[in-house]
Amino acid sequence: MKAACLLAMALIVSSSLTSYADTTLSPQQVLQRLKEGNSRYLSGKSIHPRFDTSKRQQTAREGQKPIATILGCSDARVPPEMVFDQGFGDLFVVRVAGNVCAVAELASIEYGVKYLHTPVIVVMGHTKCGAVDGALSGAELRGSLPKLIALISPVTDKTKANHPDLTGNKLLDAAVEDNVRNSIAEILKNSPGLANLVEQKKLIIVGGVRNIENGSVRWLDK
Ligand SMILES: [Zn+2]
Repeated sequence: MKAACLLAMALIVSSSLTSYADTTLSPQQVLQRLKEGNSRYLSGKSIHPRFDTSKRQQTAREGQKPIATILGCSDARVPPEMVFDQGFGDLFVVRVAGNVCAVAELASIEYGVKYLHTPVIVVMGHTKCGAVDGALSGAELRGSLPKLIALISPVTDKTKANHPDLTGNKLLDAAVEDNVRNSIAEILKNSPGLANLVEQKKLIIVGGVRNIENGSVRWLDK
């Protein structure tokens, strides 16, 4: 059902996309826009761009034209549009607890890059992530949650093995960062098409961790 839905989206958009896609921004320019947006947000000077009625109607008429694809956590404290001070149609956002990258997330990310032509993917984790904490602690969970946590546990097991000295929030911080890096690795490993675009320098994939207390995004080195 999900695959059929995505395919339908692709067919609908690809027929009208060519003339609308903004290919003028380089990956570095997009990253700069996101950093500037986060700075505005941090300093209390968000401009909430493109939230108006005319922008909404334009996106309905002409289609979406995001500048970046974001894989982020579902946590209510990390809404990407607010964090980066962006508006309607600016970000193609995939949100899932623990910002994991399984098949549905990867397909959505591919859609954002291949059909909507975003030159940047941001994988954004955050401090005090409950999903990563759940994997670290091995807490007993119900329903479908154990299946999701099983995607994170191999990462947190490595974090524990690599940092036997860390406990509490410091261990969680290290695991959150490892989990972001793991999602980036999963994207590159499981999507040869995206890996190829990275190789050609047409796409960059960057990791970040949002501090939910001070609001900043710490960008991760390669
Ligand atoms: Zn989280």
